Amino acid sequence: MTSDPAPFPPFSAPYAPDDRAIAAHLLKAAGVSAEQDTRIDRTARRLIDAIRASDDRLGGVEDMLREFALSTKEGLALMVLAEALLRVPDARTADQFIEDKLGEGDFVHHETKSSAFLVNASAWALGMSARVIQPGETPQGTIGRLAKRLGAPAVRAATRQAMRLMGSHFVLGETIEAALARAHSTGGPRYSFDMLGEGARTAHDATRYFNSYASAIAAIGGAADHRALPDRPGISVKLSALHPRFEATSHGRVMAELVPLLIELARQAKAYDLNFTVDAEEADRLELSLDVIAAALGDASLKGWDGFGLAIQTYQKRASEVIDHVDNRARALKRRLMVRLVKGAYWDTEIKRAQERGLDGYPVFTRKAMTDLNYIACAQKLLALRPRIFPQFATHNALTVATVLELAGGEDGFEFQRLHGMGDALYAQLAEDRPRLAYRTYAPVGSHRDLLAYLVRRLLENGANSSFVALAADDAVPVATLLRRPADIIGTADGAEHPNIPLPRDLFLPQRKDSRGIEFGERTALGALVSAVAKETVPAADSAASATPERVNTTVAAARQGFLAWSATPAEARAIALEKAAELLEGRKAHFIAFLQREGGKTLDDALSEVREAADFCRYYAAQGRKLFDAGEAMPGPTGESNVLRLRGRGVFAAISPWNFPLAIFLGQVTAALMAGNSVVAKPAEQTPLIAAEAVRLLHEAGIPMAALHLLQGDGAIGAALTAHADIAGVVFTGSTEVARSINRTLAAKDGPIVPLIAETGGINAMIADATALPEQVADDVVTSAFRSAGQRCSALRLLFVQDDVADRMIEMIAGAARELKVGDPSDPATHIGPVIDSEAKERLEAHIARMKKQARVHLAGIAPDGNYVAPHIFELADASELTEEVFGPILHVVRYPADRLDRVLRSIEATGYGLTLGIHSRIDDSVEAIIDAVWIGNIYVNRNMIGAVVGVQPFGGHGLSGTGPKAGGPHYLSRFATEQTVTINTAAAGGNAALMSGEE
Ligand SMILES: Cc1cc2nc3c(=O)[nH]c(=O)nc-3n(C[C@H](O)[C@H](O)[C@H](O)COP(=O)(O)OP(=O)(O)OC[C@H]3O[C@@H](n4cnc5c(N)ncnc54)[C@H](O)[C@@H]3O)c2cc1C
Repeated sequence: MTSDPAPFPPFSAPYAPDDRAIAAHLLKAAGVSAEQDTRIDRTARRLIDAIRASDDRLGGVEDMLREFALSTKEGLALMVLAEALLRVPDARTADQFIEDKLGEGDFVHHETKSSAFLVNASAWALGMSARVIQPGETPQGTIGRLAKRLGAPAVRAATRQAMRLMGSHFVLGETIEAALARAHSTGGPRYSFDMLGEGARTAHDATRYFNSYASAIAAIGGAADHRALPDRPGISVKLSALHPRFEATSHGRVMAELVPLLIELARQAKAYDLNFTVDAEEADRLELSLDVIAAALGDASLKGWDGFGLAIQTYQKRASEVIDHVDNRARALKRRLMVRLVKGAYWDTEIKRAQERGLDGYPVFTRKAMTDLNYIACAQKLLALRPRIFPQFATHNALTVATVLELAGGEDGFEFQRLHGMGDALYAQLAEDRPRLAYRTYAPVGSHRDLLAYLVRRLLENGANSSFVALAADDAVPVATLLRRPADIIGTADGAEHPNIPLPRDLFLPQRKDSRGIEFGERTALGALVSAVAKETVPAADSAASATPERVNTTVAAARQGFLAWSATPAEARAIALEKAAELLEGRKAHFIAFLQREGGKTLDDALSEVREAADFCRYYAAQGRKLFDAGEAMPGPTGESNVLRLRGRGVFAAISPWNFPLAIFLGQVTAALMAGNSVVAKPAEQTPLIAAEAVRLLHEAGIPMAALHLLQGDGAIGAALTAHADIAGVVFTGSTEVARSINRTLAAKDGPIVPLIAETGGINAMIADATALPEQVADDVVTSAFRSAGQRCSALRLLFVQDDVADRMIEMIAGAARELKVGDPSDPATHIGPVIDSEAKERLEAHIARMKKQARVHLAGIAPDGNYVAPHIFELADASELTEEVFGPILHVVRYPADRLDRVLRSIEATGYGLTLGIHSRIDDSVEAIIDAVWIGNIYVNRNMIGAVVGVQPFGGHGLSGTGPKAGGPHYLSRFATEQTVTINTAAAGGNAALMSGEE
């Protein structure tokens, strides 16, 4: 591979800048002349009229949306049905699924307003199915009656057929050959083909996608005629399909492995002079994508070819800077590039991710009109860069099209693009009015099974209330509304942000600020964090001396002294100290991350999450404490008397915490006990004494008196001496069930007051995945749940139950994805799995692995580097009962189950005796509800991973062998640390009931 030697700076721009500043700039530049405005109106109106007149066109998606809008139950049910039905292999699950979804809507009474063939077919199939499956009937009963009347296969076949019709509406062909044949038959001028599929999870997936792109290029090139670029067909590629770890933290690996693949495909495309476009994906992959693209583009073998292109999303605040970057690149290489301008397909995902990550702002706009405004500004910029840049405007919005046409001032040097199955009427009208204007159709190609995720994106896009196609399809929306200019909708810069979408860190206001996170997809933020962490020095672990038994006595005595003053400190002052602690923690995150990495073996992602969780605990308990521990609650009662119930601290609390969350759980316990007015003696795990010492130092600095908070280092013997002490008024413990039991016995054996024990212990946590679940999503969530933090979370997944009809494919994908995880030095941001806590833990896990290798089927046996590392392992058990204990490491056990024996799965889960976390992957709401009702488990996660409970969002803790409750980070936690006191005052004692007597008549 020969590369362009000229050094070129990587793309860099603020990730989530302030919307108002951008709006001020865009609004200033947005004006057009009155004549231009009139022409834009005229063109847009004509296009809208064409869309609205297209009622009897064959199979328009607009028609379907008119029938089943997403805002209706039917529309939603249809979407969920479409997303999953075609991948369900077994009849039983398919029938159950169909019944579940059709039960949610009222398809029977759905009047068919449109004559479109597609709508009729869907309505017919769904209407017929709904008529025979009555909502509320059990699947067994329903299927039984159905079979008698019509036969379940008939209903299933009809519904599947309807889904297929929908699929074929959006997909040009199941194979590239079929798609090419259809493209030729329509006589459409330009196409860009897209090979459907989810992003690669495994190396095998990535190779499959590469091969499919390569053979598609050959087929497209072979079928192309002799016209020149840009009037040539093309292909669109997704970088995430070509690499199983297409993520910012795996930068080095991605550059080494993916760039050559991209160059290879581009070379093939060049050989046929095709348009080769790299699709735009999520915002956190933008910088990585641009690095990959820049590296490929600079390859000498691609010189002299004008077909390379990329998509740029204008909902991203960085769009304008991306255009500058791309243009600079084109200039430097003396090359022409093609740029597809889109608004962006993942808006909902972007908003959620930014909220989860606790970012200071969103990388995308929160108002659609801002995206539209930015689109026009970017269009103007691209048009000015012609001919070096060939702009491709991808939109189905008539106003956007009309505005771009006006700004272009002619019909040359650019093209429009649409998605196959969308915008038919609009583009037909354009073709009629302006025959010289070029447009290209983006044409997905793939089997019905592969189209599901794509289909959902399109349904979402078309059904969203703000979407142009949905509004244009709704005759009730006046044309004038569709013609409102984005600048008018925004008004002033103050109107740039959506009033109902709070900034990520304001999500929990007014209660509290969310903890601040970092987006690793932002190179500067990641780089700054990594170098700050590297600069921290962490002392040797043996610098923390263990306490002696005598020290236990003196410490408890000191804490008893401290209790009096601390419990008399107003709740407000206690809360302020905790909030200060949260600020200090966030300000020193690099320091704590360094300690967590070096003492606790945490990866960067885990360490950052832990610092955030610790800060969340501080703020959450401060907020809860203010509410619970202020003046008390007035109770109702007879006149002449005041009755107040208040909470007070109990005395000295012993807080005994584990090594797996040496900062978050440690601080969670301590801050809860302190907020409740107790003094605390904290005994951290002997494996992580330094982090605890740092945390205590920080709390003291934040304003917690030395006398109220004490640290006792040491092993289990010190913990035992502490809990046995007569002056301990309560114990909060997180760790193994055995130790919790022994503390319980110690407390029971003591004379004197009976003290509470709040215990959070382990679990043999399960996940159930049925045939309606999306394998890629299951793979992501299983890998995260089982292997993240080297499986050393009490919430981690240990036992996966997979429906046998889909088990082979799912297990293969999970194992393939786990194989891609990097095990090694946790200070390297690319590492996914760090070491286990110590050599003892490693030995225990290795012994289990050796046993499993003999008695179970091995699906994955990873290889770990030297040191305390354990690679991921996956074993298949014949029966869940073979796993008898919690195995605290990256080892997953899988059990298959037949669809009709879910009851047995639930019994197996119950038989473990634990009840901490459970994952469910299913699209059948009835099944999900039935499972939830049947199990006694503390934290249940549906269609997502099952770790990483967020303070105040997923209060954490389990039942049975998993703990006593109440849940940490939940609203009932603090009161368990307190005693209750009622104060009754006879206000009439001195001289009668003056208040009553002076009341007005
Ligand atoms: C040929 C083609 C190729 C495409 N390739 C890509 C690609 O590579 N990557 C990609 O991401 N998308 C791609 N898309 C999808 C594209 O992003 C959507 O089709 C497009 O956003 C819809 O825009 P519109 O102008 O047709 O509709 P409109 O209805 O005018 O715009 C809808 C868009 O507005 C934005 N939006 C909606 N609500 C908000 C809000 N509250 N705040 C801010 N913005 C909001 C979203 O981007 C939404 O998709 C492609 C589309 C086409 C036609």
